[in-house]
Amino acid sequence: MNNFDCLFAEKPVFEQAQFVKGIYPAAKGEKDVFVKNEGAESDKGSFVMPVHCRSLFVTKFEQKPAFLRTALCDIDPRTLKEGEGVACKWQEHLQYFEGEAEGECVDFLCAPTKMDQYLIIYTGSEDSFFIGENPVWLGHDTEDCWYTPAVAGDLNGGEGSFGNWEWSADQLYENLYEPLRNKYPEYISRTWIGKDQTNTYDMWQYTFEPKDYEQTLYLTACLHGPEIDGYYGLTQFLHQLTEEDGSHPGMHYVREKVRLIVVPVVNVYSAATNHERRNSAGVDLNRDWLAHSQAETINVLRQIHLFKDEIAAIIDFHGCRPTTAPLYYQFSMQSTNSNVCRKVANHIQQRLYDMGREKGEPILTDIPGKYNKSNLFLQGYCYNTFNIPTLVAEHNPGRWYEEHSAESLQWATECYGNLIIQHALAKLKTK
Ligand SMILES: [Zn+2]
Repeated sequence: MNNFDCLFAEKPVFEQAQFVKGIYPAAKGEKDVFVKNEGAESDKGSFVMPVHCRSLFVTKFEQKPAFLRTALCDIDPRTLKEGEGVACKWQEHLQYFEGEAEGECVDFLCAPTKMDQYLIIYTGSEDSFFIGENPVWLGHDTEDCWYTPAVAGDLNGGEGSFGNWEWSADQLYENLYEPLRNKYPEYISRTWIGKDQTNTYDMWQYTFEPKDYEQTLYLTACLHGPEIDGYYGLTQFLHQLTEEDGSHPGMHYVREKVRLIVVPVVNVYSAATNHERRNSAGVDLNRDWLAHSQAETINVLRQIHLFKDEIAAIIDFHGCRPTTAPLYYQFSMQSTNSNVCRKVANHIQQRLYDMGREKGEPILTDIPGKYNKSNLFLQGYCYNTFNIPTLVAEHNPGRWYEEHSAESLQWATECYGNLIIQHALAKLKTK
């Protein structure tokens, strides 16, 4: 079902030393109790393993276990004394991960969020299963061509603003894309790719094409209407890229050698009306890729299909709203942009430390993210269907800044600019 062989070093789990006897799993919503032997529901099938932050663990069972509970725990249950138990509210001490059932097989993915946690798997039997580890953390931040833009206006539509967050896609194009295209007609062109699901709003694709380009990146944004600072961050980066002066080698390389094909706003209905997450039909456009039931999805898919042999990678920009995580990347672990995504994640996390925005243990959650069922999503569908490395990237300056402020936009520009530059420098596919 999943080909992770190249990325996950797999080993069978059968050694008795790895099993802890006596985890008592309570019903959902109640407290789980870890008990050493006495009082436990079962004396077999409880596996525990110390896990390292920023590694991903995939667990595979040959057969669906009769009973499966998984948890991450801050304590090592093996340190409990005979008869001793510890009750944990799962919100405090445990993090469960969705198991995926396909036929007789159950796999699940686990991404620890803190140092020194313990992965606990309770199956109720001592049958062997497999666990594989894939380190996410590459080590230290590198000094490779990182881009740190200056602050350049907010989105409140006043004097000195970069733009206005309330603009429809048409207004965004009229105010920010068309003036740039008129100034650099040899570099920027645009193509009409269709109407939205209501057959009312136009969808445009902008192409930034250097004369001697050697590779192509496909960029999309605003699948979700409220994630406004994300697509304006992409817009601000495209402005800075177009006007770059050769002083930043990464920017200069992209400007001279990389064709960017961009759909700045996919959910044009939302941008023109209510800035809601879904489109006019109430469909979440980043759950529509397998079905491609909506005009917006079909219009973009048609373009990706057209360029599929040339596209080195697809990056879809989301986020920029306060959530639980400062950054959230979803990509196919086995795809060739996997290392690029991790490298940028490391850098961004280091920047957050350096700027004092995040402290203590890393909370770089859910990298890489989606596992099975990923065909609903752009990132899974495009990788699985076209074999194109795809990333959905979310950053959340709303954790530290007011939404639509100049600082929020600056941070989005930095995050998304570095993803574009690093994908380009990796030269995943050149002509
Ligand atoms: Zn989103």
